[in-house]
Order: sequence, then C-alpha cells, then structure tokens
Amino acid sequence: MKQLENKTAIITGASRGIGKGIAETFAEQGCNIAFSYASSVDKANALEKELSSKYGVKVKGFQSNAADFESSQKFVDDVIAEFDGFDILINNAGITRDNLLMRMNEQQWDEVMEVNLKSVFNLTKASVRNFLKQKGGSIINMSSVVGVMGNAGQSNYAASKAGIIGFSKSIAKELGSRNVRCNVITPGFIETEMTAELGEDALKKWTDGIPLKRGGKPEDVANACVFLGSDQSAYISGQVLSVCGGMLM
Ligand code: NAP
Repeated sequence: MKQLENKTAIITGASRGIGKGIAETFAEQGCNIAFSYASSVDKANALEKELSSKYGVKVKGFQSNAADFESSQKFVDDVIAEFDGFDILINNAGITRDNLLMRMNEQQWDEVMEVNLKSVFNLTKASVRNFLKQKGGSIINMSSVVGVMGNAGQSNYAASKAGIIGFSKSIAKELGSRNVRCNVITPGFIETEMTAELGEDALKKWTDGIPLKRGGKPEDVANACVFLGSDQSAYISGQVLSVCGGMLM
C-alpha cells in the first residue's frame, strides 16, 4: 500500500539534492507535490515532467525565494489555489556560507540565517491557516547534526540549524491541540552537491567517524520524511530524528 496516497506535500528546495530525493520518494508513495526552488528552472521543469509521468501524481515546481516573506506567502497561496490545500510541509531549502568566525562577514551570516531559518518561519506561518482548515497536518523541518554538535567553520550554519529545532518544538506545542505535528530531521553526511564541494580528505574524515561507514543518500532522508509525513507517525510530534548513520548518538 502506498503510504501517502491522497496527500499533498509542499517541499522547499527540491530541484536538487535531498529535496529532489524527497520529491521522488513521495511521488512513488502516491503523494501530490508542490515544490520550490531558487534558480534551477530547467532541473525543476524536468523533475515536474518525470515524476508526474512516472507515478501519475500531480507535481508542480514554483520558483520562489524561501527567504522572502511575501514570496513565501504567495507560494503557499498559489499552491492552495492549484492543489486545493496540502497536508505536509517540508522546509528543506538551505545553503552554506562556511568560514571561520575570524573571517566570516556579515553577509555570510545574514544569508545563511535568512535562507535556512527565516524561511522556516516564512513557510510555516504562511501554512498555518491551511492546516487549521484541514484539521491537521505534518510539518517536517530539515536541520542538521551540525545544529546539535556544532562544527568549526560553520557557526552561521550551526546557529541556523539549532534555531530550527527550538522553533519546531515551539510550533509542536502551539499547534498540537489542532492536530498539527511538527518534527525535525537532522541529516548527517548526505551525498549531494552541498557535500560534493568538500575534498577527498574531508570526505574520508567524515565517513571514518560514521558507525555505518558510509555517507547517506537523499533516499535515506526521504524515507524518514515518508514516516513523519504519513499517518504512521500520528502520535509523534516535537521530536528530532537523526538520519546520520549513527554519527550523532
Ligand atoms: P543542495 O543540494 O545544495 O540543494 C539545495 C536546494 O535548495 C536546491 O533545490 C536549491 O534550489 C534550493 N534553494 C536554495 N536556496 C533557496 C531559496 N532561497 N529558496 C528556495 N529554494 C532554495 O542542498 P542539500 O544538500 O540537498 O540540502 C538540503 C537541506 O538539507 C538543507 O537544508 C541542508 O542544510 C540540509 N542538510 C544537508 C546535509 C548534507 O549532507 N547534504 C546534511 C545536513 C543537513 P536551486 O537548485 O534553484 O539553487
């Protein structure tokens, strides 16, 4: 049985990487998908076509900057008009602007906070009315093991990802009585373009420290999202689930 049949999900940042993996797995599980991206128009169009023809679900990509409050509101309004509401919101869009604090400039700090953390506020706030109308929903926010452990050279990124955890637990408390759940995933080292920038040495250092001795794949994160988005997790809210091969325990 398909686990997300008759459901609709919004996924931010699904033109590449983990978000794309989530879109593929959700489509396979019968979910209709509205996804956003920043600039990869061709990749987004290709994904839209591929998933709808392969799985027979409705898939639409929207070029929308998740860091912008008004664009996010418009994105959600457009999705409601097109899909007649949605059941799952996955705040996945994220960037890195790594530097040691000594060298980090204000722009690197601000961009990461806006794309990674403010976006979660923007999309969640824009979605509340929809979830109240639907009498329930599941919000899944993409943090990182770095938000729990910290990482030298990523103070901006770690702060944004730690902020997501505090935000999500607060939303779980605010909206629990309305049957809206909010959980966090903290991926470890997942093989995408974001991590491909690291050299061979850094890659080996990371995988050596992982009990399962390999980097994760977007599908590993996507499978956890299927669980948290489906009714299988109906009594789970305010939790942080680490998909990291045991790196964080
Ligand atoms: P990625 O391969 O760099 O993909 C990022 C996605 O986000 C792209 O679809 C990109 O769209 C979109 N995006 C970027 N800025 C955006 C904005 N302002 N508005 C809307 N969409 C935007 O990243 P990833 O590795 O898949 O990471 C996905 C999430 O997982 C991020 O939140 C990241 O922090 C988190 N994470 C990743 C890892 C890892 O090891 N990869 C580990 C822990 C956590 P365009 O294609 O148009 O640029």
